[in-house]
Amino acid sequence: MGPGMTLAPHSYPEVPLAEKLRLFNEVKADPRFKDYLYGCYECGICVAACPSARFYDFSPRKITQALAREDVELVYEQINDDIWNCSQCFSCLRCPRGNNPGGLITIMREVAIRNGLRSAKEALQGYSRVIYKVMSTGTQVSPDMLQFDAFPDWGPSVREESENLQLWRRALPPETMHTTSMSWRVADRTLVELYLIWHSAGVMGMIEEVDPGLAMILADLMAEKLEEYGLSV
Ligand code: SF4
Ligand code: SF4
Repeated sequence: MGPGMTLAPHSYPEVPLAEKLRLFNEVKADPRFKDYLYGCYECGICVAACPSARFYDFSPRKITQALAREDVELVYEQINDDIWNCSQCFSCLRCPRGNNPGGLITIMREVAIRNGLRSAKEALQGYSRVIYKVMSTGTQVSPDMLQFDAFPDWGPSVREESENLQLWRRALPPETMHTTSMSWRVADRTLVELYLIWHSAGVMGMIEEVDPGLAMILADLMAEKLEEYGLSV
């Protein structure tokens, strides 16, 4: 145990401290970690800039502080709860200390997914359709997919937008960006490159941890596409 690591009672008493420490060390061992954390002034600028902090009991300051203080128990709590409230917008990059709270959360999420934590599976349950869409087409959500029930954590504005989609579509000038069938067509060659990157970066392994069924569907899809180019993984 290093300085700052606490033994104070926290949530998840059934999880051994050694397991919490293992996950904490996995977060810390990430090569990005030392570029994302330089200590914390507790100024709250990241909280003021954070959209998720307005809608949830969530604070990028607390995440940064817990990691800086090496509070293993609190970090474990955050890996299981808080981090899933972040929308990864990176408005917190304006931190005067040079921290990247959103980036730290990215690392924590990846650790949660790689280790198959129940919280990660639950948090990502509603996103299978989006993941499938992104990975099978190489593109992202288009306006016609924006439904409040599917994205409750995007805040109350999604309800207003989904109820006024026709208006929003008229406000978006390029015709091609209106629907999933027409938007952002990605060249096959680019898709193949993306598959290879996702595979090499361990993304497929992470998806398998949270949704084995989806991982199987994607693996078949990618194998077929790679075969067309005489490739395999
Ligand atoms: S990246 Fe996350 S923590 Fe940072 S401002 Fe956006 S929602 Fe908040
Ligand atoms: S903006 Fe930076 S220094 Fe200020 S509270 Fe947030 S993480 Fe800490």
